[in-house]
Amino acid sequence: MTDLNTDVRYIKGIGEKKAQALSKLGVFSLRDLVSFFPRKYEDRSTVKPIALTCEGESVCIEAMVADTPRLTRVRRGLELVKLRAVDESGSVDITFFNQPYAKDNLHRGESYVFFGKIEVNGVRRSLINPVYEKADGTGRVTGRIIPVYRVCAGLNQRTMLQAVRQGLDACLEQLPDVLPHEVRERCQLAQTGYAFENIHFPADFEALELARRRLIFEELFVLACALGRMRGERTREQGIRMTGSDLSRFWAALPFSPTGAQRRAVEQAMADMDSGAVMNRLVQGDVGSGKTLVAAALIWHCAANGYMSAFMAPTEILAEQHYHTLTELLGPLGLRIGKLTGSMTAKEKRQVKETLKAGQLDLIIGTHALFSQDVEYERLALVVTDEQHRFGVGQRSALIGKGQKPHVLVMSATPIPRTLALIIYGDLDVSVIDELPPGRQKVDTFAVNESYRQRLNTFIRKQVKEGRQVFVVCPMVEENEELAVKLKSAQEHAAELSETFPDLRVGCIHGKLKAKDKDAIMAAMVAGEIDILVATTVIEVGVDVPNAALIIVENAERFGLSQLHQLRGRVGRGQHKSYCVLVSDNDGEENKARLSIMTKTNDGFKISEEDLRLRGPGDFFGSRQHGLPEMHVADLGADVNVLQKAQQEANLLLASDPALSLPEHAALRESVDRLLRVNADSFN
Ligand code: ADP
Ligand code: MG
Repeated sequence: MTDLNTDVRYIKGIGEKKAQALSKLGVFSLRDLVSFFPRKYEDRSTVKPIALTCEGESVCIEAMVADTPRLTRVRRGLELVKLRAVDESGSVDITFFNQPYAKDNLHRGESYVFFGKIEVNGVRRSLINPVYEKADGTGRVTGRIIPVYRVCAGLNQRTMLQAVRQGLDACLEQLPDVLPHEVRERCQLAQTGYAFENIHFPADFEALELARRRLIFEELFVLACALGRMRGERTREQGIRMTGSDLSRFWAALPFSPTGAQRRAVEQAMADMDSGAVMNRLVQGDVGSGKTLVAAALIWHCAANGYMSAFMAPTEILAEQHYHTLTELLGPLGLRIGKLTGSMTAKEKRQVKETLKAGQLDLIIGTHALFSQDVEYERLALVVTDEQHRFGVGQRSALIGKGQKPHVLVMSATPIPRTLALIIYGDLDVSVIDELPPGRQKVDTFAVNESYRQRLNTFIRKQVKEGRQVFVVCPMVEENEELAVKLKSAQEHAAELSETFPDLRVGCIHGKLKAKDKDAIMAAMVAGEIDILVATTVIEVGVDVPNAALIIVENAERFGLSQLHQLRGRVGRGQHKSYCVLVSDNDGEENKARLSIMTKTNDGFKISEEDLRLRGPGDFFGSRQHGLPEMHVADLGADVNVLQKAQQEANLLLASDPALSLPEHAALRESVDRLLRVNADSFN
């Protein structure tokens, strides 16, 4: 019996050299090897009589070598092996370039299966550099669907294929089935051994599909179980218990009354914090739904209980803005508020750190500088992170590690489709703010191409004349010669706009500027000293300029739908009628479909559902923006149905066996434990 944790080097047929090459692909153990799924497949399953093959067709033929292969040296570095092969229907000329050994491998009078691309010239057919093997019925590289793997130096497809074959032969019999029997039955999933064999060496396309479905299901199911179990454990974890404070003083101090959804989110979070367990809550709400206010209420609640809060933003601009907003909201209520960002001088930082350590602040706002090693907190009870998809789960945990199990509130403006939310945020409780503050207008959205440039400029002029400000978003900072596609760069485009509108104030902001400069430009925009601000996606998250009523996105095809939705959220934040124009010269069907979703709805959740439907979860899991462990489903192209099903089944199972302690769940528990262990950093 071969242990799945066995080092690949001990597998028969895999030597030191191959093992070393495999390690570069992240393959160390037998388990890694058989879980290294093909990148794609090549269909070599069709075998045809020579006479029936067509020009350009990639196909297998089974033929006998009719003459002795001839080796000719055309010149130094160019050797040709030529031969003719025949079957009952006809003949084919075969040429190998620089493969002199073909002369010795192929013998006159013997039959082989050749795979290659047929060329037809008059009545003659030819093959160049075909793949071949003996026609003895054991077809390994011909006559079937062949896996294509990601490879690296020291490994070619053939060795990779052989290595996987050896690996499978060593362990196929004893792969444990982590799926409970009834789950497998109910969802009609293939058995483990079958799935692993057929994901690598599918008998046919139907077998491949069955294997794929099973493996995707398994991966998502194990992940859902892991996250579900973490959440179960967390809710039993002891936290700092707060006692109910009277929020009416807080609400009364606001310039407006909270929406029902805001009130509800605050109440849910307060109930968590008062329960004695640790809060792990996600507040999900569209741009402009007023998440900051929810955080402010909870910060106030903490302060009323004598504890401090830390508020972490993903960028300096945002930290700055939150600092202003929260100071305005909470300063008058007597809270002591500080900030800590990377761009502050060493002296400023030192001062803030001292006040933090001495417990002289109720709230600290900052960027990731908040969790630098030398920052110490006194009585930290609440950690708020804004726009969490930017942080990844790991960074969040660094800050959480600072206090004594502080409560955690995560705020995300990226609406995640409900089907994904459970998996992505499986370890968090979720409050949804599904109501916008009153008086918000819909942002009218248009998708146009370059031919509208003139009209677009007229529209910019009109907006500015009415006293409004304009955002223009470009996909790049500076012009890039290497890119074949011409993309608008922020700098270049700003220069163009200055020429078109010599009398207007055009600004340019991008991530390569120093934090101080960015802040100065943003401040000027907020103060109304810039008419047109050309930007890269640094303005994507959170920045508030109520007077901006038009946003133009250049090369809109370069942005994801949820990103476009975020960008659109930069306007329509004041009382002015606002517009969003998406400029794209890409008239591919997919792009048109995507952009048209933007023009039809302003609902972030709907947009994300549509995005998921168009791209599939594989894309999502592949993008690694979510802080989850690397998933194979990305390669396998998961679909939404499997995802939903896996989630349902995981919930069902955890309801009956929360700790997965039943003997029949031992294999599953082991898988879940391994996932949590391997990814200890990214979870937590
Ligand atoms: P986001 O959810 O995108 O972070 P913000 O918290 O920045 O949204 O709020 C967006 C704007 O809406 C801010 O200017 C804020 O002052 C305002 N706002 C928040 N809640 C309300 C409310 N209940 N009524 C009116 N305006 C509100
Ligand atoms: Mg916000």
